[in-house]
This record gives sequence, C-alpha cells and structure tokens, in this order.
Amino acid sequence: MKKKNIEISRPLTGVEEWKEIKESILSGWLTQGPKVRKFEEMFSQYHRAKYSLATTSCTTALHLALLANNIGKGDEVIVPAFTWVSTANVVLYCGAKLVLADVDKKTFNICISDVLSKITSKTKAVIPVHLFGLCVDIDKLKKGLPKTVKIIEDAACAAGAIYKNKFAGTLGDAAAFSFHPRKSITTGEGGMLTSNNKKFIIKAEKLRNHGAEISEEQRHKGPKPYLLPDFNFLGYNYRMTDIQGSVGIAQIKKLNRIIKERSKWAKFYRRELSKIEWILCPSEPKVGRHSWQAFVMYINPESSPAKRNDIMDFLEKKGISTRPGTHAIHTLNYYAKKFNYKPKNFPNAFDCQNNTIALPLHNFMSKSDYEFVVKCIKEIK
Ligand SMILES: *Cc1c(COP(=O)(O)O)cnc(C)c1O
Repeated sequence: MKKKNIEISRPLTGVEEWKEIKESILSGWLTQGPKVRKFEEMFSQYHRAKYSLATTSCTTALHLALLANNIGKGDEVIVPAFTWVSTANVVLYCGAKLVLADVDKKTFNICISDVLSKITSKTKAVIPVHLFGLCVDIDKLKKGLPKTVKIIEDAACAAGAIYKNKFAGTLGDAAAFSFHPRKSITTGEGGMLTSNNKKFIIKAEKLRNHGAEISEEQRHKGPKPYLLPDFNFLGYNYRMTDIQGSVGIAQIKKLNRIIKERSKWAKFYRRELSKIEWILCPSEPKVGRHSWQAFVMYINPESSPAKRNDIMDFLEKKGISTRPGTHAIHTLNYYAKKFNYKPKNFPNAFDCQNNTIALPLHNFMSKSDYEFVVKCIKEIK
C-alpha cells in the first residue's frame, strides 16, 4: 500500500481566490482599498458585528484592541496560560502586566474561577481565547467580572463560531481573528478586529494607519491634492493589502462550507474515538457552534498504552501529520525566565501542552483519509 500523506491542515484556496487577486493586481491599487473594505463589510455581515477592521494579523489586531482601550503601564491584563504565544506577547507590547490564568482541561479554555480570583483594582482587560474554535462561556465570565474590565476575545480560531445565538467577535468589547493559513479561512497572513463600539473603532482605525487622521484612500482619491494628514498619537502600520483583501472575499464565501464539512468529520472522529477509554475528545457546545479550526484530543497519561510523543511518532510513520494542541505560555523560555514561572504554576496548561494531539482536519481530506486516521489510532494498544 502506498504511504499516506495526510497533512494536519490545508487552506481551501483555489481559482476563486485567483480571480479576485487578478482584479486587484490589474487595477493597480494594491494597498488597503476597495477590496479590504468589501472584505470588512462581508466579515461584519457574516458575524453580525457592527464594525470590522482588517489588519496584518490577529496579533496586530489584539495589539490594536489593547491600545485603543488605552491599556498600558500599570494596567493588568488576564490571559489563559494555554494559548498561542502572541496572546501573551501583545500585553507586553503595551507595557502592561501579564496575569496568566490556568485553563479548564475539558474545554482547553480559560478557567473562569481562576480569572475571577486574579482580578485586582488594576485589571483592565481579560483576553478569553476561543481555543480551536470553541467559544468561552462568556455569560459566566461576564457575571463575575467588574463592569470596568474589558473583554477582548482572541477569536483567532473562531471565525464562524457561535456561542448560544451570537457569533464570536460580538461577545465582548472587541475581538481579534486570524487569517493565517492554519486557521479556517486565510489571507496568507492577516487578521480582523471587530467591535460594536464606534468610538473604539475610530481610534483603532487611526492606530492601524500610523495614527493618521485621514486614510490613504481619502488622501489619494480626495479632491484636495495638498491635503496631508495630521498625527495626534503614536500609530502603527497594521494595514492589510488589497491583494489579501481579495483572498479574504473569496474565503469568507466558503466559511459555511468549511465549517459544515469539518463538523461532519469531527463528529465522525468523536463517534469513533470516544470509545477509546484513554482518549478524551474535544467538547462541543450544547447550543451554538464549534468552528473546528482544529480537532484536539487529550491523551490520558495514566491509562494511555503509549506516551503522547510515541503516539505522534507512530502516526507520523503511517503518514499522518499531528501536532501538540498549543503552548503552555509559562513554560516558554522567554516567559519562564522573565517571570520565574514553574510548570506547576499552571498545572492544567502544562498538562494540556504535554498530552494533547491535534488530528488532521481540513477540507481536502477524503472519507478514506479520516477512516485511515481512526484505524491507525485503534491499532495503538
Ligand atoms: C493563530 C493564533 C494567534 C495569532 O494569529 P496571527 O494571525 O498569526 O497573528 C493568536 N491567538 C491564537 C489563539 C491563535 O491560534
């Protein structure tokens, strides 16, 4: 039998994206312009958010969200200890104090009681991460949170995810999405900041464009050639290009299909793998929708017949790519040294880092690919 080559992830790009890019290239307008605006409108409409701002990444969208909330030195921001490194990095970019909270092992999401125990008079924001596409229990978080503390969703994995009857991106004060190719929809690199707060968005929009009071498009297409923007504060260049915006337009049209197909196969994985007693399948919301950016399962180290890494090696040899879920921030060298963290400070995050496996789940996999993954896992005894 030919060796399989099942990738962990693959973006659903094709001729649709190609056509959109072509239009952009031929028009000669390459920086943020009409394509980005259209993508932003489509993104807002899809998620029923009032405003969307495209950025260079989710990381820069998170950075803008903190900056536009005036978060800086002396302020504290609470972040889960099990997440991609940039959720924590952005707090340090602002000069604010990083406060980590442990995660819940069943959902991989931030542990709300741990968040509430870490609130002080200096807490300005919490960044709940909808990890792998499962929304944080926002109602429960809001219930305990002082009204002055902002909720900034890290919705990097959660395009199209639904909590109760609301989309990710509309659950807190602001939200940041990622369009890295590893996420459900992609623009190569890219991100989106969403909010229902007009004042916040106006500030973030200026910060995205060097702090300029008027945009590039207004400047170049406006009737007054002598017009130069004024700059009232320190800004950044976090603009998305129209080439990326074009890809985004084609991608968001596919989002429903992407999630629908992944949900079907996630259900298949759950049905087959939940029979295995040493595997804990990912939680699914009772109401709402998981967006299935990734299918991440927990391997119980007490009952598992093999170590996590040996299981991953075994699957790799079969031609099945896997990855650990994500990082325990406090064990990353930079953070461990800077804050003198020990693994036991956030035991669940540490455990999740060491005992999770993301299985292949994407829209180029066939029925037989999924069946093969399950068959190989069942061979582990
Ligand atoms: C991917 C990811 C990010 C970073 O997204 P970029 O667009 O690459 O900056 C942040 N947080 C989480 C939870 C992620 O999964």
